[in-house]
Amino acid sequence: MPYTPSTYLPYDFANRRHIGPSPEEMVEMLEVLGLTTLEGLIDETVPASIRQAEPLDFGKPKSEREMLWFMRQIAKKNRPFTTMIGQGFYGTVTPPAIQRNILENPAWYTAYTPYQPEISQGRLEALLNYQTMVSDLTGLEIANASLLDEATACAEAMTMAQRVARSKAGAIFVDHHCHPQNIAVIRTRAEPLGIEVIVGDPFADLDPACVFAGLFQYPGTYGHLNDFTAPIAALHETGALGIVVADPMALVILKEPGAMGADIAVGSTQRFGVPMGCGGPHAAYMACREEYKRAMPGRIVGVSVDAHGHKAYRLALQTREQHIRREKATSNVCTAQALLAVIAGFYAVFHGPKGLRAIAQRIHRKAVRTARGLEEAGFKVDPAEFFDTFTVEVGPMQGVILKAAQAERINIRKVGATKLGISLDETTRPASIEALWRAFGIVRKDEGGDGQYRFPDTMVRRSDYLTHPVFQMNRAETEMMRYMRRLADRDLALDRAMIPLGSCTMKLNAAVEMMPITWPEFANIHPLAPAEQVKGYAEMLADLAGKLCLITGYDAMSMQPNSGAQGEYAGLLTIAAYHRANGQGHRNVCLIPTSAHGTNPASAQMAGMKVVAVKAAPNGDIDLADFRAKAEAAGDALAACMITYPSTHGVFEETVREVCEITHRFGGQVYLDGANLNALVGLVKPGEIGADVSHLNLHKTFCIPHGGGGPGMGPIGVKAHLAPHLPGDPLRGGQGAVSGALHGSASILPISYAYILLMGGAGLTQATKVAILNANYIAKRLEGAYDVLFKGAKGRVAHECIIDTRPFAESAGVTVDDIAKRLVDCGFHAPTMSWPVAGTLMIEPTESETKAELDRFITAMLAIRDEIREIEEGRADRENNPLKRAPHTVEDLVNDWDRPYTREQACFPPGAFRVDKYWPPVNRVDNVYGDRHLVCTCPPVEEVAEAAE
Ligand SMILES: *Cc1c(COP(=O)(O)O)cnc(C)c1O
Repeated sequence: MPYTPSTYLPYDFANRRHIGPSPEEMVEMLEVLGLTTLEGLIDETVPASIRQAEPLDFGKPKSEREMLWFMRQIAKKNRPFTTMIGQGFYGTVTPPAIQRNILENPAWYTAYTPYQPEISQGRLEALLNYQTMVSDLTGLEIANASLLDEATACAEAMTMAQRVARSKAGAIFVDHHCHPQNIAVIRTRAEPLGIEVIVGDPFADLDPACVFAGLFQYPGTYGHLNDFTAPIAALHETGALGIVVADPMALVILKEPGAMGADIAVGSTQRFGVPMGCGGPHAAYMACREEYKRAMPGRIVGVSVDAHGHKAYRLALQTREQHIRREKATSNVCTAQALLAVIAGFYAVFHGPKGLRAIAQRIHRKAVRTARGLEEAGFKVDPAEFFDTFTVEVGPMQGVILKAAQAERINIRKVGATKLGISLDETTRPASIEALWRAFGIVRKDEGGDGQYRFPDTMVRRSDYLTHPVFQMNRAETEMMRYMRRLADRDLALDRAMIPLGSCTMKLNAAVEMMPITWPEFANIHPLAPAEQVKGYAEMLADLAGKLCLITGYDAMSMQPNSGAQGEYAGLLTIAAYHRANGQGHRNVCLIPTSAHGTNPASAQMAGMKVVAVKAAPNGDIDLADFRAKAEAAGDALAACMITYPSTHGVFEETVREVCEITHRFGGQVYLDGANLNALVGLVKPGEIGADVSHLNLHKTFCIPHGGGGPGMGPIGVKAHLAPHLPGDPLRGGQGAVSGALHGSASILPISYAYILLMGGAGLTQATKVAILNANYIAKRLEGAYDVLFKGAKGRVAHECIIDTRPFAESAGVTVDDIAKRLVDCGFHAPTMSWPVAGTLMIEPTESETKAELDRFITAMLAIRDEIREIEEGRADRENNPLKRAPHTVEDLVNDWDRPYTREQACFPPGAFRVDKYWPPVNRVDNVYGDRHLVCTCPPVEEVAEAAE
């Protein structure tokens, strides 16, 4: 067997874990393609005109142990102090049972977004628990399964309110006691949409006639507890809406937004067991009144039924609306914070309502004791009534006390010139309270003890919450552990099978890369911790940004966007700010090919741009003539184009440089959607082929796990001319912030960093080449059975391929759905369905999959083609066949079998494992039923009993 330099990399090479096919297997796969070298394939696939000149080189790759040692040295430069800063980020305890069984469990963290409900029932149930928790705590009927962070959730609430409010006023009123980052992101979001932001005191400055909504923080950023019933009632008088930004921990014992008449509630569930992580990731929640459910952004889990009428969960309503509604979509949120929502939901399941109340009461009592100690020493505490946060007037002593607290390893908040802010949390210990007092010059013992509520009786929560049985479970860890295991077992994640999702790059998330994120030096850091305490983060961020710049050919990076779509939005705002700075603020047209991901037009609309669609040529490429015509027509108004490379059709277009040149010629900037970077790393640099800005989906190309729909990171790289216009720091008064912390979800960046350190430049390049090899191998092997829709000039696909299943609708009555569900019987997650072309499947195997797994998939797909042929040739019934009735459950087997095909054929089609067979827990889920009978919280007990009968 001939080894060539490019197929052969020694087994002990550090990146071997990430590359599926062995060197020998690669030779076999290349033979199928009629080639002898991997380099030959790349030459036929990637146009020479765009290849980067120099190989990617970061020096010697690190072994696992070297990398961990290196990360330890970086971690040591972070100093996790006791945090009492507050401002939306609090210490919390992740219950070890949740850390181990969920956060550190690939069955949970390697899952994809639950678009295929039959293989996602476990995480859908966990997310439904989360929605139920949010709905109960806020007192509002409908909740979604997470937004990116509290600040963006505020902005989403604003635009949602504008859509649904009867008032057509052009302004929003924002409580001056909102966290500064919330106000910053609201301002950014409001500006391009022409919404005026009025910041003031809700009890003095609110004129309901002038606004479509009022948005209030509860408790306020300095601890104030206000009942917003009256301002909300006043808003309702004029057809405006009331939005309450509420801390769910406070809601456990305080009057809920629903009881104040609020229409929408948003907030962060961070303190439900998710570490601060220097800013994220955290799940933000949104809840609203029933009547507004159709305007709610993000994903909503709903209850429906399967083909047997059994209860089944699935994503409801506007799940994929960006792909359908494009620039008219309600929001661009795609990847959200599913894993963090699952954790927060489990925190509630784990503690139950009594446990949560005990935690909230303890936090409150600690705050009361701390305040009393200060007051008895003569300090003035404001406000007098609070939940967990208050400020202390210290006059000229501010700096001294701040430093004294730091000497006690405690961070507190600087408020104005003469005050200090203090927030207590679940983790605060008596010793820390005593140390804090010492910083104020008070020698006192914390005696513990009860203490009364220090808020008015009218603010005490009266209503019940978390009454559903799932929150009343036996609290023994045995029971909890098994519940988490049962849910995980219902799902198909990367720990069981390939997830060949075109565009979404479901590659290995190596165990070793996940280890640093739970180290306290990365996890327990407040985003406002002083610079000298976060030198490790600074070092890692700088080196990671430098390496990503080297990979992409850009000059600067912003780590702020928490998802790819957020990156698109940030990138377009950066372009807009650049045009403004050049006196070209009128430029507002954005050219977007019709094949673009739905988030592209949705983001462009949010950035205040006018979307002009560009046609695709018959071969799938951008129609260059149309592109030129549209650019010319826009002329002086051209702001940008948004292209994806390689294209969403899975092809390296030869004309990409020309597209960039045309855009530049008319004064526009090129946004290159970097979701397909897995086909470029080490071969092509977007910044060198004419693009000005790109987002990188670190949760695709750079190994952050998908988490069942988040977390993600969508940092943007820009050329030097755009660097001055990148988003500012929302926590420190910066302009143009797009999320609530400067570096977004900083605590998951160690995953991508570790990946790059382990792979080195050569390893990353090899990964790209093998990703292209794996895709071409599948395309070749499926040839004859299925048509591959788009190919490059030399007949090769990029790192993914689209196969056409439309002809089978006519020939056999088989739809793309039927094939997707039949793949479940074979033990596979379906490829991306019906995007970018309706009725097709887009397959992306990634470099991580071994030849054996690729062959298993190919076997399954060929067998499915045979089943289709049986229908075509009249040998199988058009309705009663394994495709139409897929997926098959154990229940199907034990019931009377009256089908024209065998049980064996039903459950063990080629590709399926016999011993390790994946059994879907439900039959095909009825989507239409679910949308007609929308239920988005845990169904009442009676219904559960009925379903179980
Ligand atoms: C995944 C994807 C996005 C959106 O990224 P999110 O992180 O889900 O917001 C945008 N464009 C393309 C081509 C993608 O594949």
